[in-house]
Amino acid sequence: MPKVLVLGGRFGALTAAYTLKRLVGSKADVKVINNNRFTYFRPALPHVAIGVRDVDELKIDLSEALPSKGIQFQQGTVTKIDAKNNQVVYTKPDGSTVEEEYDYVMVGIGAHLATELMKGWDQYGYSVCEPEFATKLRDKLTEFKGGNIAIGSGPFYQGHNPKPKVPENFIPNADSACEGPVFEMSLMLHGYFLKKGMLDKVKVTVFSPGEYLSDLSPMSRKAVGQIYGSLGIKLIHNFRIKEIKEHEIVDEKGNTIPSDLTIVLPPYTGNPALKNSTPDLVDDGGFIPTDLNMVSIKYDNVYAVGDSNSITIPKLGYLAVMTGRIASQHLANRLGVPTKIDKYYPTIVCVADNPYEGFAVSVKDDTWYGGSVSVAEPAAVNHLKKELFTKYFMWTKGDMALEKFLASW
Ligand SMILES: Cc1cc2nc3c(=O)[nH]c(=O)nc-3n(C[C@H](O)[C@H](O)[C@H](O)COP(=O)(O)OP(=O)(O)OC[C@H]3O[C@@H](n4cnc5c(N)ncnc54)[C@H](O)[C@@H]3O)c2cc1C
Repeated sequence: MPKVLVLGGRFGALTAAYTLKRLVGSKADVKVINNNRFTYFRPALPHVAIGVRDVDELKIDLSEALPSKGIQFQQGTVTKIDAKNNQVVYTKPDGSTVEEEYDYVMVGIGAHLATELMKGWDQYGYSVCEPEFATKLRDKLTEFKGGNIAIGSGPFYQGHNPKPKVPENFIPNADSACEGPVFEMSLMLHGYFLKKGMLDKVKVTVFSPGEYLSDLSPMSRKAVGQIYGSLGIKLIHNFRIKEIKEHEIVDEKGNTIPSDLTIVLPPYTGNPALKNSTPDLVDDGGFIPTDLNMVSIKYDNVYAVGDSNSITIPKLGYLAVMTGRIASQHLANRLGVPTKIDKYYPTIVCVADNPYEGFAVSVKDDTWYGGSVSVAEPAAVNHLKKELFTKYFMWTKGDMALEKFLASW
């Protein structure tokens, strides 16, 4: 029986594994390898930081969830994909190294959050990208007595060569990998300090390594600028953070922003395991270039989904789910199950929530790719959308089968 290894355990890999198993049933062995037995619903980690959710509410035990759907699970840290010899090399929790062969591999191990590229991160840096970051920030916010808060993203080290086999307009150059969480967190902080009665004690500055939210239309960016104006939030463009100090942050040109609390979406680089893999599997940034079916341009039996794939710009859960679904549909056909393959079409779809003020901004935008859809709507119902999306993910244990319908609400 063909053996499919699925690497990773969040939006991209879980969608690929669940969808493939649903489609092919007993026609293939599907095994997920993830470095953690648990996975967390990442888009609600900012909610943990402001104290409206507990991190355990967002936790899924993959060693139970996957086998209950007929998918094997192995905890292990992938160190290398040997694409020439069809092998994945990984380290088990007991420290032993395994070289496991595959017929097909679906790579969904995401990007690398390069905190090491920011001097001072260990001492003064805060974030929301992983559960431990979110709880650390929650504790810091609880004791924060007021002052300057700087929030923004680090630079995105995007790969450019070789290019994926997709239309050129699908892969714009991006200064930041993903600024949605920055936008969301900046709204949340306003609600958080409003509730605490501390708004007059806090000055929030949002910074961006390029033009802030450049993946949205000029109209939506203007709307965001107006929202920030009304909330008293300052916006600074073209600030590529290099160092975090106790009371300021410094960019590559030596510019500074006063900051007593710095919240950063770290710089994004390619995953070290991919940089360590067969060299022509990845581009010069460490991401895997594919065609529109998520098949590697060099290795026919390697698929890449989600943030690991060079075509997902920006690095977005919505695109991770879409690429996971397409890859599994394509592979199902090769495994003898005729299946309609969805068309990859990039669109920015996300919801920036502000629970304390009871509204969220729902964004849908494809203008960066040459389309004409541009929606950015603040509404109470959008807050409910985010709540439902969180519940849906937890209820299905990360199986986003209905996501393509829900995302079009
Ligand atoms: C705070 C935050 C909020 C966000 N909110 C939204 C949102 O509201 N909507 C949206 O569309 N997008 C959102 N995003 C973006 C979205 O979370 C990512 O695009 C998405 O998680 C990418 O999914 P992925 O599965 O490709 O990669 P990842 O989420 O990075 O998952 C990679 C998986 O692989 C595992 N892994 C990594 N390295 C190895 C290794 N060497 N060996 C084995 N396993 C490994 C990881 O543990 C993880 O399980 C948000 C991002 C952040 C940081």
